[in-house]
Amino acid sequence: MNAFESIIEELDAIQDPKQLIGEIFQRFGKKAAIGTSGQLTGVVMIDMAEAAGVTPRVFTIDTQRLFPETYQLFEEIEKKYGIRVEKFGPDPQKIQNMIQEHGEYLFFDSKEKQEYCCHLRKVEPNERALATLDVWLTGLRADQSAARAETPRFQIITEGKEKRPILKVAPLIDWTEAQLRDYAKKEGVPVHALLNWNQNGWYYESLGCVICTTPIGPHESRRAGRWRWFKEDADKECGLHVPPKKDEI
Ligand code: SF4
Repeated sequence: MNAFESIIEELDAIQDPKQLIGEIFQRFGKKAAIGTSGQLTGVVMIDMAEAAGVTPRVFTIDTQRLFPETYQLFEEIEKKYGIRVEKFGPDPQKIQNMIQEHGEYLFFDSKEKQEYCCHLRKVEPNERALATLDVWLTGLRADQSAARAETPRFQIITEGKEKRPILKVAPLIDWTEAQLRDYAKKEGVPVHALLNWNQNGWYYESLGCVICTTPIGPHESRRAGRWRWFKEDADKECGLHVPPKKDEI
């Protein structure tokens, strides 16, 4: 049994997410961090950490194509909780080369080019963030997509060429949108302006880059607003959250 497996056994006994988040930051300090794109789940986790009496380390992946409302939310979070949201961005030289070779809007051309753009703007910065961590707290929820329904609360993933183990934790994995909304209302949690946007039943379910993220209609799947020009059944993940293989759980 490796060190993380015994830690998982201990942490798994804690059912209350606030207590779990507090325990993780007490044990791991700055080697733990909440990764958030500005979704409700991420901000609720920050609020829970504060309520548990710890100051959480928080990071985001700044693809440099985020909505203005996302940057506004991060400012609001920093002000309310007295923390800094660390921004990990892409390598400017690689982005320049990509745009020169394929154009700024390469993601329209093919799934491969969309994944290439996501790799440079999201996956690589995320890897740099993970290189500083032992524990990555994510806002994944089982009700977000079929792929995410398989996500366990605790998962050991590996980072870097050395395949260093990292504990990935989804404290609110079984929470619903309604539970999050109730919590946010009760505790005065800052909510992303686009998550309060609704026109004729169309609303934003996920928050990503401009153009690649659009609102979804009343009967659409939750990831339908991403990369609309691809088929509905195409893989709508960006590479940050690869579903676990059985032996990684
Ligand atoms: S979501 Fe779109 S713009 Fe953002 S990194 Fe992926 S392909 Fe590029």
